[in-house]
Amino acid sequence: MADRTESGLLHLVGRARDGKLLLAEGDALDEGVRRLVAERDQARRSAGGQTGAIRALHRRLNAAEEAIAEAEKRAQAGEGIRSLVADLHHPMRFGGLIVCELCSTWDGSRFHGLITAHPCRTVNVLNQSQAAA
Ligand SMILES: [Zn+2]
Repeated sequence: MADRTESGLLHLVGRARDGKLLLAEGDALDEGVRRLVAERDQARRSAGGQTGAIRALHRRLNAAEEAIAEAEKRAQAGEGIRSLVADLHHPMRFGGLIVCELCSTWDGSRFHGLITAHPCRTVNVLNQSQAAA
Protein backbone atom coordinates (compact mmCIF):
# COMPACT_ATOMS: atom_id res chain seq x y z
CA MET A 1 0.00 0.00 0.00
CA ALA A 2 1.39 3.39 -1.00
CA ASP A 3 2.00 6.14 1.56
CA ARG A 4 -1.22 8.21 1.65
CA THR A 5 0.16 11.20 3.51
CA GLU A 6 0.82 14.50 1.75
CA SER A 7 4.56 13.79 1.67
CA GLY A 8 3.78 10.32 0.27
CA LEU A 9 1.72 11.86 -2.52
CA LEU A 10 4.42 14.45 -3.25
CA HIS A 11 6.92 11.58 -3.46
CA LEU A 12 4.66 9.93 -6.07
CA VAL A 13 4.43 13.24 -7.99
CA GLY A 14 8.23 13.36 -7.99
CA ARG A 15 8.42 9.84 -9.36
CA ALA A 16 5.87 10.75 -12.06
CA ARG A 17 7.95 13.82 -12.96
CA ASP A 18 10.99 11.56 -13.30
CA GLY A 19 9.00 9.18 -15.50
CA LYS A 20 9.36 6.35 -12.98
CA LEU A 21 5.79 6.10 -11.74
CA LEU A 22 4.49 2.54 -11.64
CA LEU A 23 0.87 1.80 -12.55
CA ALA A 24 0.00 0.97 -8.91
CA GLU A 25 1.67 4.21 -7.81
CA GLY A 26 -0.38 6.12 -10.39
CA ASP A 27 -3.54 4.59 -8.95
CA ALA A 28 -2.41 5.56 -5.44
CA LEU A 29 -1.66 9.10 -6.62
CA ASP A 30 -5.08 9.32 -8.28
CA GLU A 31 -6.79 8.01 -5.14
CA GLY A 32 -4.83 10.44 -2.95
CA VAL A 33 -5.72 13.46 -5.08
CA ARG A 34 -9.41 12.46 -5.11
CA ARG A 35 -9.31 12.06 -1.32
CA LEU A 36 -7.78 15.54 -0.89
CA VAL A 37 -10.43 17.06 -3.17
CA ALA A 38 -13.18 15.30 -1.18
CA GLU A 39 -11.68 16.56 2.10
CA ARG A 40 -11.51 20.10 0.70
CA ASP A 41 -15.15 19.91 -0.45
CA GLN A 42 -16.21 18.58 2.95
CA ALA A 43 -14.35 21.43 4.68
CA ARG A 44 -16.06 23.96 2.40
CA ARG A 45 -19.50 22.47 3.13
CA SER A 46 -18.75 22.51 6.84
CA ALA A 47 -17.64 26.15 6.68
CA GLY A 48 -20.77 26.98 4.68
CA GLY A 49 -22.93 25.26 7.29
CA GLN A 50 -21.24 27.22 10.08
CA THR A 51 -21.77 30.46 8.15
CA GLY A 52 -25.45 29.59 7.77
CA ALA A 53 -25.73 28.78 11.47
CA ILE A 54 -24.09 32.11 12.36
CA ARG A 55 -26.51 33.95 10.05
CA ALA A 56 -29.44 32.14 11.68
CA LEU A 57 -28.12 33.11 15.14
CA HIS A 58 -27.79 36.74 14.00
CA ARG A 59 -31.40 36.68 12.77
CA ARG A 60 -32.58 35.24 16.10
CA LEU A 61 -30.51 37.79 18.02
CA ASN A 62 -31.98 40.66 15.99
CA ALA A 63 -35.51 39.30 16.52
CA ALA A 64 -34.86 39.02 20.28
CA GLU A 65 -33.52 42.59 20.44
CA GLU A 66 -36.61 43.84 18.57
CA ALA A 67 -38.89 41.91 20.96
CA ILE A 68 -37.07 43.40 23.97
CA ALA A 69 -37.38 46.92 22.53
CA GLU A 70 -41.10 46.35 21.89
CA ALA A 71 -41.60 44.99 25.42
CA GLU A 72 -39.79 48.00 26.87
CA LYS A 73 -41.98 50.33 24.79
CA ARG A 74 -45.12 48.57 26.02
CA ALA A 75 -43.88 48.63 29.61
CA GLN A 76 -43.26 52.38 29.34
CA ALA A 77 -46.73 52.89 27.83
CA GLY A 78 -48.26 50.79 30.62
CA GLU A 79 -46.36 52.77 33.24
CA GLY A 80 -47.62 55.99 31.62
CA ILE A 81 -51.23 54.81 31.88
CA ARG A 82 -50.69 53.62 35.47
CA SER A 83 -49.20 57.00 36.38
CA LEU A 84 -52.09 58.87 34.72
CA VAL A 85 -54.71 56.81 36.60
CA ALA A 86 -52.79 57.24 39.87
CA ASP A 87 -52.74 61.03 39.26
CA LEU A 88 -56.51 61.04 38.71
CA HIS A 89 -56.98 59.23 42.03
CA HIS A 90 -54.69 61.53 43.99
CA PRO A 91 -55.19 62.07 47.70
CA MET A 92 -56.55 65.25 49.22
CA ARG A 93 -56.79 66.30 52.84
CA PHE A 94 -60.32 66.92 54.08
CA GLY A 95 -60.50 67.77 57.73
CA GLY A 96 -58.64 64.97 59.49
CA LEU A 97 -59.13 62.58 56.59
CA ILE A 98 -57.09 61.76 53.52
CA VAL A 99 -59.62 61.07 50.74
CA CYS A 100 -59.52 60.21 47.01
CA GLU A 101 -60.52 63.38 45.20
CA LEU A 102 -61.90 61.55 42.14
CA CYS A 103 -63.77 58.75 43.93
CA SER A 104 -65.24 61.30 46.34
CA THR A 105 -66.29 63.45 43.33
CA TRP A 106 -64.76 66.64 44.70
CA ASP A 107 -65.55 69.59 42.38
CA GLY A 108 -63.28 72.08 44.09
CA SER A 109 -65.84 73.24 46.62
CA ARG A 110 -67.81 70.17 47.70
CA PHE A 111 -68.23 66.39 47.35
CA HIS A 112 -70.95 64.99 45.08
CA GLY A 113 -70.61 61.36 46.19
CA LEU A 114 -69.57 59.26 49.14
CA ILE A 115 -66.35 60.45 50.72
CA THR A 116 -63.84 57.73 49.91
CA ALA A 117 -60.64 57.21 51.88
CA HIS A 118 -57.28 57.26 50.05
CA PRO A 119 -55.84 54.96 48.90
CA CYS A 120 -59.12 54.07 47.19
CA ARG A 121 -59.84 50.66 45.59
CA THR A 122 -58.41 51.83 42.25
CA VAL A 123 -55.11 52.92 43.81
CA ASN A 124 -54.96 49.66 45.78
CA VAL A 125 -55.39 47.68 42.55
CA LEU A 126 -52.68 49.76 40.85
CA ASN A 127 -50.32 49.18 43.76
CA GLN A 128 -51.04 45.44 43.80
CA SER A 129 -50.49 45.10 40.05
CA GLN A 130 -47.26 47.07 40.29
CA ALA A 131 -46.05 44.90 43.18
CA ALA A 132 -46.89 41.77 41.18
CA ALA A 133 -44.99 43.00 38.09
ZN1 LIG B 1 -59.99 56.84 43.73
